[in-house]
Amino acid sequence: MNKIEKMQNWLSNSGMDIAYINEPTHVNYFTGYESDPIERVLGLFIFPDQDPFLFTPQLEVESAKKAGWNYDVFGYLDHEDPFKIIAQHILDRTSISPKKWAIEKASLPVSRMESVLQQFPDAQFLENASIYMEKAKLIKTPEEIKLMQAAGKEADFAFSVGFNAIKEGKTEQEVVAEIEFELMKKGVMHTSFDTIVQSGANAANPHGGPEKDPLKKNNLVLFDLGTIHSGYASDASRTVAFGKPSQKALDIYNVCLEAQLTAQSAIKPGITASQLDKIARDIITKAGYGEYFIHRLGHGIGMTDHEFPSIMEGNDLEIQPGMCFSIEPGIYIPGVAGVRIEDCVHVTEDGSEPFTHTPKELKFID
Ligand code: MN
Ligand code: MN
Repeated sequence: MNKIEKMQNWLSNSGMDIAYINEPTHVNYFTGYESDPIERVLGLFIFPDQDPFLFTPQLEVESAKKAGWNYDVFGYLDHEDPFKIIAQHILDRTSISPKKWAIEKASLPVSRMESVLQQFPDAQFLENASIYMEKAKLIKTPEEIKLMQAAGKEADFAFSVGFNAIKEGKTEQEVVAEIEFELMKKGVMHTSFDTIVQSGANAANPHGGPEKDPLKKNNLVLFDLGTIHSGYASDASRTVAFGKPSQKALDIYNVCLEAQLTAQSAIKPGITASQLDKIARDIITKAGYGEYFIHRLGHGIGMTDHEFPSIMEGNDLEIQPGMCFSIEPGIYIPGVAGVRIEDCVHVTEDGSEPFTHTPKELKFID
């Protein structure tokens, strides 16, 4: 059963008349068409027992057809009312006006929901397709895993560029620029999030960004980066030593590394997400740094760099083959140093395989 057929099954089992998929990565998931329509309307309309159709701005209709979507693609011009046109195409497929709708409640703007209501005043938004999508994306196909392996290779390349770029006097932002320039020259036009390079105490702020200040010598330097390859993301972190970091910094590196390696090697079908988090957290807590590990152990990855499953306390989800997620313990001591070491993996029948292979033993750069 393909992705569309599975969705059609879900619609008929839950008694829905129609699904409206608006999130661009989810439109891509079903159609193979990658689009960033900005404020224009992009939507996929799926019915329990009729052919689906893709709706795009007129200027994208041809590229959408070329992307390999086997069903209809309809468009609209900028001066036209897109929902009027959508309604006509829907009524061409269903003899009666659809009443029971599944929509993506996590991403459909209220204004678009109101546009649907204008065309179909009886519409009821009953099922949440956002939850359906989260579950559908949980287990990756071998084809998806291949694309994520390719994205992982690009992340490994980015690390090698970044490590070579470290030099006295250079700023964190300049190192980011070199990484992204070299990626673009290789044809990687999108990172999966803003590349992070942070040195010294700046790395203790896990959601802070690269600064204009020169790299701080005799400190740790944290890299967190990822790319998008044919719609699939990579995400990995490495922390390296620039000069001779303090004993304290080296100590937290070693603790973080042990937590990362131990949790990653514990991954196998049947273990739960919360057990994995606990394995890493116990090591960091025992070493005395528990209060500085201030986020979950990991997150799912696929078409975006944050999806299900969440690897955290309280999530009793059993890990299964085909799931893809990060193992990324971090220790952040304000004013001192920050360490994070991260690989994303796909779960196999008896363990896991990482998407990135840059060594994790502490690398010293002069
Ligand atoms: Mn991550
Ligand atoms: Mn990351």
